[in-house]
Amino acid sequence: MKAQVLANEALNAEVFRLELEKPDGFTFKPGQALQLKVPDVANPGALLDRYFSIASPPEKQSLELCIKKQGAATEYLSGLKAGESVELAGAVGAFVLEPKPHRHFVFVSMGTGVAPFRSMVASRLFRDNLPLSTLFLAGFRHAEDILFGEDLSRLDYIAWVPALSRESQDGVFAGRVTAYLKAAEIPFELSEFYICGSADLVKEVRAILEQKNVAEESIHHEAYLHPNKKKSW
Ligand SMILES: Cc1cc2nc3c(=O)[nH]c(=O)nc-3n(C[C@H](O)[C@H](O)[C@H](O)COP(=O)(O)OP(=O)(O)OC[C@H]3O[C@@H](n4cnc5c(N)ncnc54)[C@H](O)[C@@H]3O)c2cc1C
Repeated sequence: MKAQVLANEALNAEVFRLELEKPDGFTFKPGQALQLKVPDVANPGALLDRYFSIASPPEKQSLELCIKKQGAATEYLSGLKAGESVELAGAVGAFVLEPKPHRHFVFVSMGTGVAPFRSMVASRLFRDNLPLSTLFLAGFRHAEDILFGEDLSRLDYIAWVPALSRESQDGVFAGRVTAYLKAAEIPFELSEFYICGSADLVKEVRAILEQKNVAEESIHHEAYLHPNKKKSW
C-alpha cells in the first residue's frame, strides 16, 4: 500500500522526521516498526526492504518516523517531499508495550532508538495503565542531537532523562546511558526494562541488568540491525 508524505523535516544534522499519511485500516501496536519498500536508486526497479520504528502513538492520524541518514534507502527517504509517496508493507515486530501497572518501567534508548518509546508513552494503552514510575533514559552525543526533547519533557507522568556522552550541560546527565544505569538508584528487581538502539547498546545494557539480577522476562529489546546481519547475543 502507498502512503503519502505529509511532512519531511530535519531534526538535527543527521536525523529527519518523516510524517506519512496513515492508510485506511492500517493498525499497529506501540513499539512496532514500519516495513518500507524503498526504491534502490543504484538498481532501477529493485526495492530495498527497510524497517523504521513508528515514533507516534496509534491514536494519531498520521505515522511519524525519525530516521538517521545511513545509506541508500535513508538517503532516498530524506529527499522525499510532501505530496510524494512511499510503499508500506505493514507494521512488524514483537517489540511491543506490555503494560504492567504494578511494576516500574525503564526505557533505555540511544539516538533514534527513542522512537518506539515515544510511541509507547504517548499511547492510550500506556496512559490508561501507568506503571508505578517511568524512567525514560535517552542517550545522545551532543545537546543538539536530542530528539523529541521538547514534547517528552512535557509529559508529567514520566521522568525524561537525556544523557549526553560528548558534552556536559547544566541539568543534563553527562555520560553514557550505561554509566547512568550503573550508578542510578533504580528498583532493578521491581522494574521492566525496554532497550532500543544499536546491537552494542543492547548487549551492554543487558550485561548490566544481569549483574543487577533483573530477570530475563523483564528485559525487552529491539536492536537496529541491518536486515542481513545476525544478532550476536
Ligand atoms: C526493527 C528495526 C527498527 C528500526 N528503526 C529505525 C528507526 O526508527 N530509525 C532509524 O534511523 N533506523 C532504524 N532502524 C535501522 C535501519 O533500518 C537501518 O539502519 C537500515 O539499514 C538503513 O538503511 P540504508 O539503506 O539507509 O543504509 P544501509 O546501506 O542499510 O546501511 C546501514 C548500516 O548497515 C551497514 N550495512 C550495510 N550493508 C550491510 C550488510 N550487507 N550487512 C551488514 N551490515 C550492513 C552499513 O555499514 C551501515 O552502518 C531500524 C532497524 C530495525 C531492524
